[in-house]
Amino acid sequence: MSSQSVLSLKGIKKTYNAGKPNEVKVLRGIDLELKEGEIVAMVAPSGAGKSTLLHIAGLLDTPDTGLVEIGGENFSRQSDRRRTRARREDVGFVYQFHHLLPEFSALENVMLPQLANGVSRTSAKARAFDILGRVGVAERADHRPADMSGGEQQRVAFCRALANAPRLLLADEPTGNLDPTTAEKVFTSLMELARETGLSALVATHNLELAARMDRQVKLEEGVLVTAD
Ligand code: ADP
Repeated sequence: MSSQSVLSLKGIKKTYNAGKPNEVKVLRGIDLELKEGEIVAMVAPSGAGKSTLLHIAGLLDTPDTGLVEIGGENFSRQSDRRRTRARREDVGFVYQFHHLLPEFSALENVMLPQLANGVSRTSAKARAFDILGRVGVAERADHRPADMSGGEQQRVAFCRALANAPRLLLADEPTGNLDPTTAEKVFTSLMELARETGLSALVATHNLELAARMDRQVKLEEGVLVTAD
């Protein structure tokens, strides 16, 4: 495993409604480094700021202060255009709910981010089939999200997140909506896929058993990350 840094957060602070009576100091100085191929669990109670942190790490939001680097590039000073491109090419997101487009098939849902990045239909289709196959849902390629189980929907959501071969996966309670047995199976598929592709991942989860299977665990507590293992 290379020791190249894929994600580096330094001194990240974020306050909502600063100076107002309803001020919330969500992040009070976050430091985190993810190396290439590293899969890190982030454990935190609801409301602790997991989504805020994942959105900042994935360039969907900006911190009040602090540095966000992806692949060694400092994004704190980059233009919106550069941030948008990096978000499309280098980062994949998975949420608790699949957010697949209901009117498109599984295959099309995995093809769309590739087409948006200028990949040809033939290549996008071939890659979509390949990734769907790797997580065991190739036979559902023509199904729309409504015609799939929760576990299958979430596997397809992983495939969509990985469609453009990002270097970083950010997952917010990716199995939180599934029963324990399905959650375990879907999580195992995700881990295998991440290992095969050398992806780095930051996975927020309440599930301590799944957290223990990742490379390391951090806890988000009172706005800072502490090592938890
Ligand atoms: P988690 O994902 O851990 O549940 P969030 O990052 O969504 O936590 O939110 C952390 C805290 O910040 C919560 O108290 C939430 O109410 C508050 N918060 C989140 N987004 C906003 C916002 N846009 N404006 C004001 N407060 C917010």
